[in-house]
Amino acid sequence: MRMSVIGCGYLGAVHAAAMASIGHDVVGIDVDERKIAALASGAAPFFEPRLPELLAEGLGSGRLRFSSQMADAEGAQVHFVAVGTPQVAGGHAADLRFVEAAVDGLRPHLRPGDVVAGKSTVPVGTAARLAARVIDTGATLVWNPEFLREGWAVHDTLAPDRLVVGAEQDADGGRAVAVLRDAYAQAIDAGTPFLVTDLATAELVKGAANAFLATKISFINAMAEIAEASGADVALLADALGYDTRIGRRYLGAGIGFGGGCLPKDIRSFAARADELGRGEAVGFLREVDAINLRRRERAVRLVVDALGGLVFGRRIAVLGAAFKPFSDDIRDSPALDVAVRLRGLGADVVVTDPAAIDNASAAHPQLGYARDRDEALRDADAIVVVTEWDEYRRDLSPEHAGALVRGRVVVDGRSCLDAAAWRAAGWQYHGLGRR
Ligand code: NAD
Repeated sequence: MRMSVIGCGYLGAVHAAAMASIGHDVVGIDVDERKIAALASGAAPFFEPRLPELLAEGLGSGRLRFSSQMADAEGAQVHFVAVGTPQVAGGHAADLRFVEAAVDGLRPHLRPGDVVAGKSTVPVGTAARLAARVIDTGATLVWNPEFLREGWAVHDTLAPDRLVVGAEQDADGGRAVAVLRDAYAQAIDAGTPFLVTDLATAELVKGAANAFLATKISFINAMAEIAEASGADVALLADALGYDTRIGRRYLGAGIGFGGGCLPKDIRSFAARADELGRGEAVGFLREVDAINLRRRERAVRLVVDALGGLVFGRRIAVLGAAFKPFSDDIRDSPALDVAVRLRGLGADVVVTDPAAIDNASAAHPQLGYARDRDEALRDADAIVVVTEWDEYRRDLSPEHAGALVRGRVVVDGRSCLDAAAWRAAGWQYHGLGRR
């Protein structure tokens, strides 16, 4: 099937490459010429496991192309819209300018029967408005929200937990759904549930899924606050809760909380849209979820300050991690970098290391010190703070090895990812959020 993917960021570039890998003929389009030049030369403009291989394969086969010209979308049967929907400056709502510009830019190139499939995360009601904008072209707009996890994006695109397509319940909507069913035939044949909904429900599924995940993370972090005040241990609590199959252990890792280009802005825009709909009360708890999340960053900083005797000025602190999560170089709203910036703000001599995100981090926060090599970051540190649970820190760093490099054996585990007993046994002062 011929497809276009408008917007080639974390979502769109992976979607384009993944669709080409299963045999579709795909053109990825973006207004960012540099990104397009990189992608066209086979270089992934961001870190995502398996993406470089998929790009090489797609470009080599001729099934995958990249362009900065919207006209190159012409002739595609499906046009996926994967542009950004960031938080508006000075507010909590989503900035829909990019989605609107993408759909308007696409309009002159649409033919009757084409399907425009929105993948960006949008507030409920957006799709119906955009559908009206393309109707006179004879194309049909559907909403096909994306649930991929950065770091697992290729896997999640090729083998998603479920596919959701929202469409108008008329003949054109039915035809458009059938086209998407064909586009995703491989995943559907492999057993992926394919759910057909109206436009509003499809938009809401995405917002609700992110609201739920954020709530689960903030729930355990709220328990960490209680554990800290009562002398309990949140990691043991999470294990015990997690055995309850109604609850489950995933997303119950207490720590410095969520970040990235999705959860924080998505829960805010969800609440902002609920306000517009006159139902703000229904999701009022999301403001608390956000507040709990942001408090954890400050708590991590406090643990470091207290561990160093109340003053970090001039002390060397190794910050292990910059990306908002492992297997990604994404630093958008990264709790890890936020902790580093706050420590720097208190006068600490901060050295940040990360296997993938140093370039992005140093461009955004040039005031911080950086070391590409983990051991270089550890050398002569008065304290270390683990803020992104990369294998390099969680699994591969032994307390003995780290102990030989640092000046002070103080570790703050911002992700509950270290073996506290092993670090203590090696002579470290171990501090974890919500840990005894
Ligand atoms: P991103 O910022 O990495 O990419 C967006 C891309 O769109 C950029 O490359 C930008 O240049 C391009 N763009 C902007 N306006 C354009 C236009 N008019 N025409 C063509 N290209 C244009 O963002 P992302 O992380 O890929 O997210 C995209 C959307 O997908 C957002 O709505 C996000 O919430 C949603 N989403 C993201 C993820 C994720 O893990 N990143 C997961 C699920 C859903």
